[in-house]
Amino acid sequence: MTDYIAPLRDIRFALTELAGLNDVLALPDFAEATPDLADAVLEEAAKFAGAVLSPINASGDKTGANLTAQGVVAAEGFGAAYQQFVENGWASMTGDPAFGGQGLPNVLGAAASEMWNAANLAFALCPLLTTGAVEAIRAHGSEELKAKYLPKMISGEWTGTMNLTEPQAGSDLAAVRTRAVPDGDHYRIFGTKIFITWGDHDMTDNVIHLVLARLPDAPEGVKGISLFLVPKFLVNEDGSLGARTDAHCTALEHKLGIHASPTCVMTFGEADGAIGYLVGEVNKGLNHMFTMMNEARQKVGLQGLAISERAYQAARDYAKERIQGRVVGQAPGEKLPIIHHPDVKRVLLTMKSQIEAMRALALLVSADVDFAHHHPDAAKRARHQSRVELLTPVLKGWCTELGVEVTSLGIQVHGGMGFIEETGAAQHLRDSRILPIYEGTTGIQAADLAARKLPMQQGAVMVELITEIRAAAEAVAGVEGAAFATIAQHLTTGVDALEQASTWMLQTLARDPAAALASSVNYMMLAGYVSGGWLMARAALAANAALKEHPADDFYKAKITTAAFYAEQILPKASALLTTVQAGSSYALELPVEQF
Ligand SMILES: Cc1cc2nc3c(=O)[nH]c(=O)nc-3n(C[C@H](O)[C@H](O)[C@H](O)COP(=O)(O)OP(=O)(O)OC[C@H]3O[C@@H](n4cnc5c(N)ncnc54)[C@H](O)[C@@H]3O)c2cc1C
Repeated sequence: MTDYIAPLRDIRFALTELAGLNDVLALPDFAEATPDLADAVLEEAAKFAGAVLSPINASGDKTGANLTAQGVVAAEGFGAAYQQFVENGWASMTGDPAFGGQGLPNVLGAAASEMWNAANLAFALCPLLTTGAVEAIRAHGSEELKAKYLPKMISGEWTGTMNLTEPQAGSDLAAVRTRAVPDGDHYRIFGTKIFITWGDHDMTDNVIHLVLARLPDAPEGVKGISLFLVPKFLVNEDGSLGARTDAHCTALEHKLGIHASPTCVMTFGEADGAIGYLVGEVNKGLNHMFTMMNEARQKVGLQGLAISERAYQAARDYAKERIQGRVVGQAPGEKLPIIHHPDVKRVLLTMKSQIEAMRALALLVSADVDFAHHHPDAAKRARHQSRVELLTPVLKGWCTELGVEVTSLGIQVHGGMGFIEETGAAQHLRDSRILPIYEGTTGIQAADLAARKLPMQQGAVMVELITEIRAAAEAVAGVEGAAFATIAQHLTTGVDALEQASTWMLQTLARDPAAALASSVNYMMLAGYVSGGWLMARAALAANAALKEHPADDFYKAKITTAAFYAEQILPKASALLTTVQAGSSYALELPVEQF
């Protein structure tokens, strides 16, 4: 089984050459974060991933978390690893300094998060949700709630959860039925939430739940949902822990993957109601929750990248060892590993090139979040915020769909051994399969992109992106060499496809919304492939410039070859997707439900 080794060189390249890390570090709010500090943080985060999280990934998959009479017990080794995570200061890395956080940029946190998720997806989900809960409380909570809960959540002493889903309310949160009954200065919560990640565990003294519920007189639908903070243990005025609240994990789901991440049925109010506190305004709960959901959607997109990287490393290492078959042109009697077979090389480069494209997109959006929050110029903040809003569903939808594809290819490279649990390749595919489902399924992301994000500012945000992609294609066309000609040709065709599909989508939404929605996933995937192609083209340009100073550096040469492969072998999918988008899936809509 391959140990995870963080691809630090490529992460640093994507951060500095594509995401603009140095510009982020130059923002006044990050005055204390120097490039040297950022480098040291990445180095240590990589060590933590490799030395602490990776070794308990397979064992966590085998044993999983367990529900006992005392509550959920985390998989063996997870409690100690979490303790170390907190002691090393990883939990507070990007937290607000006003509440004890270190205030480092989001993009640096994203780079570290890629490594932790690649090393151990089930573990990394816990801090991922805590960070999102912190953001929601920070943005919408009262000063009292912030002072009481944020310092310990930011330090990692307590973890946070997201309680949205109910049996009848999955994608459609308008159907939430959990009740919140006013009781003096607080509320009593009654209801059942399902599928709650890290809803209970023994790694920390307290768990802070963010729960969507309805007040007795609330209107129907999304306009009647409020947000509540429900602690596992009440917190006294002096910060010590008080009584246990009436919020319990009453069952754990048995599932396909991420076995070490407890997926809880949470029962609120079995007895006298779980004490909770209103976060933000009454009936604005879903709106407030979107602060957490948007952040989580970006981080789940990052998980698609992370699990792909893990699967790629395993496949590449196996392909370098496994000897099988005669390679074309091989000398008689010579024994070569399967990585020499043309088709195996193609598969591995399909994995590697898409991983590099996903990494660039994930880090770019993460840096845009920093600019959107911290740029001193309000117009620039607004521009970056629009870019974040446009690309969040693409990052979530495209990267998680690719995560399943890439981890499946990882099994293919292993042959039969990939299907056998022993090699670990199967765990990556099993773990990846949840990613296109939670935090809004692929269908929900695609609808968000097509029907909400694309129409923002009459399509101007997408037009601006298309203009930037065209500029990159022109810059690439000006560079000599076959690889650059290939990239320019396919990126130009790809961006044409994105423009035509966007125009079709905007026009069709008004005329025939069903046809538009039937094409929305294909449109989202098209946007993902072309955004990835844009960033790979920019990567090739940066590598070409770097080669002038370091002509013997194979990393830069490989970057150009990988970008050309992506352009030639992956980007043409955009043209095929354009055909399907423009067809409007009319036959899918035509077939009567009875004929399915
Ligand atoms: C392991 C795991 C962990 C989870 N963690 C959490 C958590 O921590 N907190 C939490 O609140 N929830 C969590 N969830 C729940 C998760 O977010 C939901 O499963 C997800 O939102 C989908 O809802 P659903 O399962 O009810 O599917 P449904 O909403 O029933 O969807 C079924 C299918 O119908 C499609 N569909 C539904 N509506 C539409 C539409 N309007 N347009 C197009 N297609 C549509 C979907 O794309 C999907 O393919 C978790 C789930 C799992 C399995």
